[in-house]
Amino acid sequence: MNKKTHKVMIIGSGPAGLTAAIYASRSGLEPIVFDGMQPGGQLTTTTEVENYPGFENGINGPEMMEIFRKQAMKFGTKMLFEMITKVDFSEKPFKLWASDKLYQTESVIIATGASARYLGLESETKLKGYGVSACATCDGFFYKDKDIIVVGGGDSALEEALYLTKFGKKVTIIHRRDNFRGSKILADRCKKHPKIEIQWDSVVDEVLGEQDMAGVIGANIKNVKTNKITKIPCSGFFVAIGHQPNSAVFKEFIETDEKGYIKTKNKSSFTNIEGIFACGDIQDNYYQQAVTSAGSGAMAAIDVEKWLAKNE
Ligand code: NAP
Repeated sequence: MNKKTHKVMIIGSGPAGLTAAIYASRSGLEPIVFDGMQPGGQLTTTTEVENYPGFENGINGPEMMEIFRKQAMKFGTKMLFEMITKVDFSEKPFKLWASDKLYQTESVIIATGASARYLGLESETKLKGYGVSACATCDGFFYKDKDIIVVGGGDSALEEALYLTKFGKKVTIIHRRDNFRGSKILADRCKKHPKIEIQWDSVVDEVLGEQDMAGVIGANIKNVKTNKITKIPCSGFFVAIGHQPNSAVFKEFIETDEKGYIKTKNKSSFTNIEGIFACGDIQDNYYQQAVTSAGSGAMAAIDVEKWLAKNE
């Protein structure tokens, strides 16, 4: 058992967690960051980030997170490639478990973000890893000169569709309404792109294929206005319909909204438990930007520092 009680432990290593780590380490709090399932967070599954201030020519998502990580480590942050599987926030010091390894800490910053959602179709689940994916950056390469479907109408779907045109012969966006939720600039690029076709008012009825070499071979797409089902051939089927917060491990102790996003108090990072703070997408169902996540990471570190000073 590790009996040392740390000052602050940060769960999650996306822009929020790593910014909190930069601030906390510069304040001498010697933070420990648990990397989690996806070190670097969601940005490691995106391509070009064009809207993060300071990178005039854009920057590749994974590269940006590597810079964040190095900056945090430069000031003494310790990174652990571990996943927190259980917590006990009922008394101080707080307890965190990474499998059977126990850690104790005076405060915690939760920055576990959100993960990609799937449609929930049986055929989709069956073909995950056989052509069904939620990460164009990870899997786009496999669909060189092939037909690809992207489901969704938000920025993620638009960005993924544009990225996938680098590989695919044709990219069909399936969107359930007749206009995009995503930003105008990305929507315009998709509408004008010669390789992109858009199926409006359409939902996926079934993903077609088998768990063999061929994998996905197409999808039955239903027009919600006419109820007509059309088979669209494809080899890659990408789902980009938003995210769900990674808050399950904390739910016994931490208050969330009905979707599972952690509730923070009065625009701060304070949660319902004194000493437990939250930042980034895990507590933000609205802005969900790298830059807003990073900003809330800074807020969490400042809140922790002040809270520790007051409670010492
Ligand atoms: P989002 O904005 O919530 O969009 C999800 C899309 O999926 C919506 O168009 C939604 O349709 C559709 N959808 C949801 N559930 C569905 C279902 N069961 N079946 C079919 N379609 C479904 O999620 P996101 O695109 O992941 O973006 C999340 C946040 O990150 C946003 O704030 C976005 O601006 C940001 N983001 C920014 C960038 C960028 O700036 N470069 C890139 C990626 C993400 P409806 O429109 O009908 O609801």
